[in-house]
Amino acid sequence: MAPDPARVRTLTVSEAFESIQGEGPSAGAPSAFLRLAACNLRCRWCDTRHSWDFRLYRYRDQARRVGVEQLAGRLRQMTSRRIVVTGGEPLLQARGLAALLERLGPTWTVEVESNATILPGAELSPYVHQWNLSPKLSNSGESEPRRLRREVLAWFRGLATAYLKLVVVSAADLDEADELVSSFDWPRERVWLMPCARTRAELRARSRELVAHCIERGYRLSPRLQLELFEGERGR
Ligand code: SF4
Repeated sequence: MAPDPARVRTLTVSEAFESIQGEGPSAGAPSAFLRLAACNLRCRWCDTRHSWDFRLYRYRDQARRVGVEQLAGRLRQMTSRRIVVTGGEPLLQARGLAALLERLGPTWTVEVESNATILPGAELSPYVHQWNLSPKLSNSGESEPRRLRREVLAWFRGLATAYLKLVVVSAADLDEADELVSSFDWPRERVWLMPCARTRAELRARSRELVAHCIERGYRLSPRLQLELFEGERGR
């Protein structure tokens, strides 16, 4: 029998804050952000290492277990009624997340960001309106068996609400991105290229480079407003 999501009463949270969505199809939308702790990958350019790398960051400073009732209460105090669940890898806590979203109720619009290596499961899926999937290319430094789970991507491919957001370091990554998109026949209007960058200057230079490639291939270019506006400051 499937476990009752109401029985999962805690989530391990990295941070919760209110801002605007910085990336992907709903960039610019005011949103409550819930960053869940822990990740099953170790991307070399990860910009949210504090949510999972507890050799580099002290766990007790960066993560805490929070009851879903308490968390729902905190989120309800925010103005936004759009929630972006991110990480780390949120699907490591799919059952707890389902319990939280059940408590929040139907007035919320829910986006979940994932590296697309884990199936969300039947408990969580009905609560999610938009999936922002970021399967990793070889530039992540992760091995293919760890970063590419074809059965998971094939499952998400069946959803009109699933978008790909591919992190590109250089033009050399584009053939690999094309191969991934073509192998799943993913609609190109639902594919966002996002430049890997740590500074505004790097972001602008790499974004400019990607414009011609987006035009040529029919992909979208993702902004990174949190970097453009706040230089990647935490909680913005
Ligand atoms: S999957 Fe995302 S959170 Fe995890 S290491 Fe890679 S970039 Fe960081």
